[in-house]
Amino acid sequence: MMTRVASCSCGQLRLTCEGEPARISVCHCFECQRRTGSVFGTQARFSLKQVTIEGSATQWTRLGDSGQPTAFSSCPVCASTVYWEPNGSPGSVVVAVGMFADPSFPPPHVSVYEERQHEWALAAGQLPLQHEF
Ligand SMILES: [Zn+2]
Ligand SMILES: [Zn+2]
Repeated sequence: MMTRVASCSCGQLRLTCEGEPARISVCHCFECQRRTGSVFGTQARFSLKQVTIEGSATQWTRLGDSGQPTAFSSCPVCASTVYWEPNGSPGSVVVAVGMFADPSFPPPHVSVYEERQHEWALAAGQLPLQHEF
């Protein structure tokens, strides 16, 4: 089974993920832009049972557009947001794909909040994404 390790910048907070993610998406919403400092977020959803978390994390909770809270976990040392627990999908953990630092990680297949997308981002249409809202 495929094992991948997601790590914050300083390496203190690590997630070992067994098997394949259920969903890989990009999100262009302003919250993901602010959270990452990039112009879109890329994330992979796993079942909690697939994931082993090591190290300490600081939680920050914000309300999504749905009005449901999502708790983001970041490293208290380097402040990377490594994972979060999505509202509406209990038992799941969503991991920021960049934390794997693995160019062979499977590509996203879903794109959301494209109305907030920077015009150049993803060179629109060149990835075989579904566009969901
Ligand atoms: Zn760190
Ligand atoms: Zn977003």
